Amino acid sequence: MEDTPHPRPVSPPDFPELHDIDAFNKRLKAAFDRVSKIRPYKMESLGQVGGRDIFLLSPEAPIEGKPNVLTAGGFHGEEAGGPWGIIEFLETADEETLKSVNHSFLPLVNPTGFERGVRFNIHGENPNRGFVAEYIDGAEEEDAEWTNRGPSAEGKILLKHGAKLVSLARDGFVSQHEDDGLNEGFIFINEQGPMPSPTATALLNTIKKHFPLIPDGGKNELEGSPIKDGMWVNGMDSSFETWMLNQGVPRTITTETPALEPARSRVDCNREMVKAFADVTAEIYAKPPETGPKKGPALIKKKDRGPQP
Ligand SMILES: [Zn+2]
Repeated sequence: MEDTPHPRPVSPPDFPELHDIDAFNKRLKAAFDRVSKIRPYKMESLGQVGGRDIFLLSPEAPIEGKPNVLTAGGFHGEEAGGPWGIIEFLETADEETLKSVNHSFLPLVNPTGFERGVRFNIHGENPNRGFVAEYIDGAEEEDAEWTNRGPSAEGKILLKHGAKLVSLARDGFVSQHEDDGLNEGFIFINEQGPMPSPTATALLNTIKKHFPLIPDGGKNELEGSPIKDGMWVNGMDSSFETWMLNQGVPRTITTETPALEPARSRVDCNREMVKAFADVTAEIYAKPPETGPKKGPALIKKKDRGPQP
């Protein structure tokens, strides 16, 4: 742990609090109080890195029959759009949305990177790598030469609470990231079945309201990538989302808003993606209407779900 002061990153005029951790935690607590009046939530610290808490918000009493989903933000410290999008969702979501799914949140996974405005944590580790042993040493792994060779400090904390997080994400997990070299958005999605799936469509439509989608094949450092129609489908690495998928979570999505665009638009987009994820998941798991002849099963079978040993 280091107590040395660090330079505060310059925040843009259209979002002056972008990397202000105290402002962030203050608004998080107020947002938690707000949603808890609509639907009781628990807010707990899973652990600390560099003296900063990693908070988890989860419904106090999950509603039976509703899907469990988890939205995370801020694995990479300079990607502030996701964390603020989660805060603003919690500041604005109505009762219908909050009760449509059992929605849990990891609003800011890498607080020491966030307050410094840098990608990695205070120890220089990549908080979104090192989760899946078989991919850690892969030469083709992103950032292979300098990424950490196992879970970061944040990763160890998430894995310590792994069974609980998998249960909270039983029906879907979204990790909100940003791409620092782009003016366009895209998603990584891991899900079986034809693409774009309803979840992919909902998130891509939300991105398209704010930004163009990245051209097929990617751009700049993503050149030659399998991106098509704004999606990178079923790619695996040592990230937390791949780990969640391996634990039986049926769909994991990494959203990438373009960090070269204005912060205000990126936060707007991320806020709307939190709601879009809740809305589309509620639709996917909606029970068929009670009226009419009863034949056939529900739209989606829920067997073979949940944590695996
Ligand atoms: Zn990232």
